[in-house]
Amino acid sequence: MPTPSEFLPGTVALVGAGPGDPELLTLKAVKAIASATVLLVDDLVSDGVLAHARPGARIVHVGKRGGCKSTPQAFIEKLMVMAAREGEMVVRLKGGDPFIFGRGGEEVEHLRAAGIEVQVVNGITAGLAGLTTLGVPLTHREHAHGVVFVTGHAKPGDSGTDWQALARTAHQARLTLVIYMGVSSAAQIQRDLLTGLPAHTPLAIVQNATLPSQRHAVSTLGELRATLDHEGLGSPAVIVVGDVVGGLAALQAPDALARTA
Ligand code: SAH
Repeated sequence: MPTPSEFLPGTVALVGAGPGDPELLTLKAVKAIASATVLLVDDLVSDGVLAHARPGARIVHVGKRGGCKSTPQAFIEKLMVMAAREGEMVVRLKGGDPFIFGRGGEEVEHLRAAGIEVQVVNGITAGLAGLTTLGVPLTHREHAHGVVFVTGHAKPGDSGTDWQALARTAHQARLTLVIYMGVSSAAQIQRDLLTGLPAHTPLAIVQNATLPSQRHAVSTLGELRATLDHEGLGSPAVIVVGDVVGGLAALQAPDALARTA
């Protein structure tokens, strides 16, 4: 059995806060949050998660929403180093998992280069939780042999995801696509995916997964943009494309349950 982790003064923990529902935090995340004297918090982290912080802990919100401009990444990294050097137990709380589209890798590199001890605590990523909240699996022996987590938002100057290549591969290899940060580029993603995937490919859009404000829609690739507009769905949302979504009705049907029994 691994030794239980310790969260010591002068160190940093990058902690996954999960998709929103505080009950989806790991025990290790709760332990890290409760040990922290300083918490640097992203905006996709819910208040229920912060309820685990000890009284008197300094909570710094560094996210983009809530009317404030986001704190530049370099400044967040500097803050972490400074606080750790002052002997604080620093927790960097990130939505979902810190190593899935969370710039966790960059932060770990920066901290290590500065000689600060850092550990990473996994969280349940939104792409995993989104479909699960609908009772739909990301893989299924009859519908999908694998899953791709992919971002709809490229770094400035980067050409971004090759959606056409991805569509061909997903079609041939029967993969479920889980698209993060895809709402604002949905029209282009839809157009490019349609070069390799049929228009009737089922998809689900899940906004605010696992939070009381969760909303979702089930549609098809050919109707992606129209469904977003029609249902008024927006960020943060995951778009899940693939035949597993079409299996929703079949999985819930009594005869399907009998078949798997
Ligand atoms: N590290 C995070 C992802 C950060 S990128 C994770 O592992 O989940 C931010 C994107 O994550 C959002 O644009 C959205 O696509 C997705 N996301 C985060 N929280 C979400 C939620 N509760 N419901 C749906 N999508 C969410």
